[in-house]
Amino acid sequence: MTARSTSAILQLDESLQPPLYAKRGIVLVRGEGAWLYDSDGQRYLDLMSNYGVNILGHAHPRVTAAIVAQASRLLSCHQSFASDVRAAFLEKLLAVAPHGLSRAFLSNSGAEAVEAALKFAWAVTGRRKVVAAKRGYHGRTLGALAATGEPKYRQPFLAVLPEVVHVPYGDAAALAEAVDNDTAAVILEPVQGEGGIYPAEPGYLAEVRRITREAGALLVLDEVQSAFRTGAWFACEHAGVSPDLLCVAKGLANGVPIGATLMTEDVALALPAGVHGSTFGGNPLACAAGLATLETLEDDRLIPGAAELGLYFRQQLLALGHPLVRDVRGIGLMLGLDLKVRSTPVLKALQERGVLALPAGTTVVRLLPPLILSRDEVDLAVARIAQALDAVRER
Ligand code: PMP
Repeated sequence: MTARSTSAILQLDESLQPPLYAKRGIVLVRGEGAWLYDSDGQRYLDLMSNYGVNILGHAHPRVTAAIVAQASRLLSCHQSFASDVRAAFLEKLLAVAPHGLSRAFLSNSGAEAVEAALKFAWAVTGRRKVVAAKRGYHGRTLGALAATGEPKYRQPFLAVLPEVVHVPYGDAAALAEAVDNDTAAVILEPVQGEGGIYPAEPGYLAEVRRITREAGALLVLDEVQSAFRTGAWFACEHAGVSPDLLCVAKGLANGVPIGATLMTEDVALALPAGVHGSTFGGNPLACAAGLATLETLEDDRLIPGAAELGLYFRQQLLALGHPLVRDVRGIGLMLGLDLKVRSTPVLKALQERGVLALPAGTTVVRLLPPLILSRDEVDLAVARIAQALDAVRER
């Protein structure tokens, strides 16, 4: 590979792709634990984990070892063949899954996991309509995009999207009104992520479960962002609710592309062979990384760890009592700092101070740090957040 200057890489990277992303002007070269390093040797505390993907941080030795071992043995294995590592990974994933979910369809991304859930729901019920939430996010492929609530993503494609009705998140009465005898599924995030970090209010998901059951519609929970980081394996456990279908991706293989659609036995057996599939889905490399990730989450007690550290992080942010902060929301290590101003300048000020975080909605600074973050790193993060808020306030 040709050695290039930072500015040459930035220019090439931008000029060879459609301009779909707001670029940060950073060339990443390496990561270790909760830290990322750029081409100029500057380091950043990573509070975004590549949109929630690197749940164990960067270059986790156990995941790296599993990837290397699998890559030198067998990289791909079509699902018409069985694979030892796929079987072991599925066994582990379904052992920690919410009650009643006994099978999983494997794919390569969150959107694909959602797409499969919708296809199962349409095919199993023979119904057409889907009900989703305003502010919800489910991905960019056409089915997932139809379910996504943000009009700006859907507008250019409205003519080709399947029918989805969007109701306000958290309003069980509005949902009950929208669900009828033609409703195949209700799809919701137990904690809305992209929309601004809104955990479901107590009782809401149980009420949605009751409404869907009564109408003969399936409940799809999208845990692509919330799985593993809220202090439970899956966020729906906090509500004591099990869906008919559950979507996972992002953190599941700590950075190797993967998606999984978990489902009940009834749903799984309702579709005949050949009606859905994926060439790369269930590949041994992703399964090996996934198995190592799940085993590490369990062995290192990172699920209860996320509950404790998330509570501490949230308390420290609240203790700032900063005049620009309207609210600190979230659960475990899925946190949102809702501001009285737009989040963009605060995120920029944070990046200038060596901290990477994400926007959500227009006023929320979203924090999806790796679960291996230390208390010292939380303290450092809170200090830098305070400095960034002060800098924006002074301007
Ligand atoms: N569902 C949710 C809840 C998500 O947060 C995302 C990604 N932000 C997706 C689905 C889509 O995942 P992907 O980008 O891997 O397709």
